[in-house]
Amino acid sequence: MATPFADDFLPEALQFRPDVPLVDIGANLTHDSFGRDLEAVIQRAQAARVTTMIVTGTDLAHAEQAVALAKQYPGLYATAGVHPHDASHWNADLQRAMAALHAMPEVVAVGECGLDFNRNLSTPQEQQRAFEAQLAQAVESGLPLFLHERDAGQRMREILHTWRDDISQTVVHCFTADRDTLFGYLDLDLHIGLTGWICDERRGHHLRSLVNDIPLKRLMVETDCPYLLPRNLPAKLKGRRHEPALLPWITREIAQWRGISETELANATTQTAQRFFRLPTALLEES
Ligand SMILES: [Zn+2]
Repeated sequence: MATPFADDFLPEALQFRPDVPLVDIGANLTHDSFGRDLEAVIQRAQAARVTTMIVTGTDLAHAEQAVALAKQYPGLYATAGVHPHDASHWNADLQRAMAALHAMPEVVAVGECGLDFNRNLSTPQEQQRAFEAQLAQAVESGLPLFLHERDAGQRMREILHTWRDDISQTVVHCFTADRDTLFGYLDLDLHIGLTGWICDERRGHHLRSLVNDIPLKRLMVETDCPYLLPRNLPAKLKGRRHEPALLPWITREIAQWRGISETELANATTQTAQRFFRLPTALLEES
């Protein structure tokens, strides 16, 4: 349902249409904040050439909603997993329900899953149990993995090391860690997802020198919306809700710190995302 206010929501200064279609590999479009105007949000994304959005499924209910959105809107795909915050809920029923979702054509990755020792909303033991069960699901389904890691880089690398040969591809989404962790992930042949964190001159500063160390073939971009509104926007946004139409501001910032053109970065990240999630190429062409 389109609202009459839809076009007013993004100030003109924030409307930015890059040369090349983009893929937002992490959009939490099932978040309550999008309940009122999702159709307009998707239209604005398409207008900003964010033609493809991978809707993050962080638990069973949200993964089911993500699949429903992917069925409804062309250009949307879903992931299905249990976030480390919710790892304490992992059980055999949930495992079966997730496996059923992984078999659906709309689901392009297992996740968001992983380890978060920053908040420990589930205990580290519960997190590792749910994570390893989902690694097994990635092996069974052959799907790539969409990972979340916060303050758990060492343990994450140890676990992935034992599974790596059996898993097709893995992306660490919203990478914000340090150089050693980055190189550890690259050594494991992982992909890296960057968000608007890099646009934050206070806490994203270290990423600006690291961005050159990520091979373009391993790099993808994401909003992680509605969270992490970039701090480089040239105009204020009412409500401060992040959305996929703002992804071009993130690619602009990354391209700048990398010293390449926005077009080159957009081309590379879009091709990488297309290969990684096995997306149909038609969606990434001119819209
Ligand atoms: Zn996450």
